[in-house]
Amino acid sequence: MSSAALNHALASWGRYPSSYPHQAVPCRDRQTLVLPEEPQACLPFGNGRSYGDVCLNNDGALLLTRGLDRFIAFDPATGVLQAEAGVLLSEILALIVPQGWFLSVTPGTQFVTLGGAVANDVHGKNHHVVGSFGCQVRAFELLRSDGSQRLCAPHENTDWFQATVGGLGLTGLITWVEIQLQRIANPWIVVENRRFASLDEFLALDTEYEARYPYSVSWIDCAASGKTLGRGIYLAGMHAPPGLLKSLPPKRRALTIPFTPPLSLVNALSVGGFNRLYYHLPRPARGLTLYQPFFYPLDNLLHWNRLYGPHGFFQYQCVIPPANAREALGEILARIAVSGQGSMLAVLKRFGEKTSGGWLSFPRPGVTLALDFPNRGQPTLDLLERLDEVTRQAGGAVYPAKDARMSGSSFRQYFPQWRKFSAYIDPRFASSFWRRVSSTTP
Ligand SMILES: Cc1cc2nc3c(=O)[nH]c(=O)nc-3n(C[C@H](O)[C@H](O)[C@H](O)COP(=O)(O)OP(=O)(O)OC[C@H]3O[C@@H](n4cnc5c(N)ncnc54)[C@H](O)[C@@H]3O)c2cc1C
Repeated sequence: MSSAALNHALASWGRYPSSYPHQAVPCRDRQTLVLPEEPQACLPFGNGRSYGDVCLNNDGALLLTRGLDRFIAFDPATGVLQAEAGVLLSEILALIVPQGWFLSVTPGTQFVTLGGAVANDVHGKNHHVVGSFGCQVRAFELLRSDGSQRLCAPHENTDWFQATVGGLGLTGLITWVEIQLQRIANPWIVVENRRFASLDEFLALDTEYEARYPYSVSWIDCAASGKTLGRGIYLAGMHAPPGLLKSLPPKRRALTIPFTPPLSLVNALSVGGFNRLYYHLPRPARGLTLYQPFFYPLDNLLHWNRLYGPHGFFQYQCVIPPANAREALGEILARIAVSGQGSMLAVLKRFGEKTSGGWLSFPRPGVTLALDFPNRGQPTLDLLERLDEVTRQAGGAVYPAKDARMSGSSFRQYFPQWRKFSAYIDPRFASSFWRRVSSTTP
């Protein structure tokens, strides 16, 4: 592969910033793994589903973990699964769903590796019930650049466990992970949809539905302003009960965006039109769907990130503590509406109290909002800084897995345990993200 093609393949999902690793090192056999020679810094690269630069290491080496793709053990009686860190969640689901098991926590795409899911301590639609990915991790092995291998678990090498869950790949290479799965009776999900007209309505609906449903998430129309500000669609779901003998529909083939258009197809016109249409689209109040469209609606459109054109896009995901959520989210949505830089994929969700203990984990009690913005250069960066102002003042935080631009001072405010964490960074590991946020200016 040419170096341009290689670097393209090693881009992050938002395709910003550019990726130019000096070296890409495929990891295949975990027993004989050797890190590249000094002086370069290394960083594990899973499947590049992070949006910004946590998975990039410009001018350094990327350790490609997808080759660590073996299942090690699975006990269908207890639902304990151990696999190498490069195995994708989609590969795990293909194995476990037919045997009546499901992931206890899954993000909004199944194309992430086990190692990537641990390193960002990813969250799913059931955070309010079970917490984040780290809460289902029973153990993992951490390989350090000095060759040492450390078994980490909630009650063994606890400090290394807490540094590495949500540790952004900086504490060493996770070689394998053991997780606890949850039982399911079938692959179906019972779903309820409700339209809401404002943020207050969202919060009221959420209180009502979260008590009854383990999964919930909302889409929000962020092109709306004035009286319609904060309107959206609430979606709640649960695994269907036993005894449901519905036959599986024929498998649908995923569509692909075949190339990157010269301009972003996501613009003020398409965003406004899409949001209005999507909000008013008739949908049944209650229904049954397979788990894939419920958990992974975007996975059926491969390479959808190409729609944002050659300059890529930013994702902004913040969490705001419960007491300030109503006011701060209203302000964020108002600032977006005024900027005219709306987002199609705006998602709102309440996080619960349960945490994994990861020192740099993003999920914490509050309401989280995630939005995509086409990269229009400085005007987009200015808007995101204005959103950060609100998040900082409200005592919230921004998600590193989705970030490509937060300042060092914002990072230190959002993740006050960064200093304790720094002592656990492998001396041979670094990332573009870490270099940015650990620089002292500003
Ligand atoms: C469509 C879409 C929906 C998403 N929905 C959600 C969501 O609902 N919730 C959520 O939390 N996230 C979500 N994400 C983000 C995604 O889940 C995370 O960024 C995830 O960590 C990506 O995993 P990856 O395997 O692609 O890792 P990469 O993006 O390649 O790397 C992520 C981090 O993990 C580190 N890493 C990877 N492998 C290892 C290893 N073996 N050892 C040590 N460190 C390692 C890397 O160094 C990097 O810091 C979504 C992303 C997309 C594209």
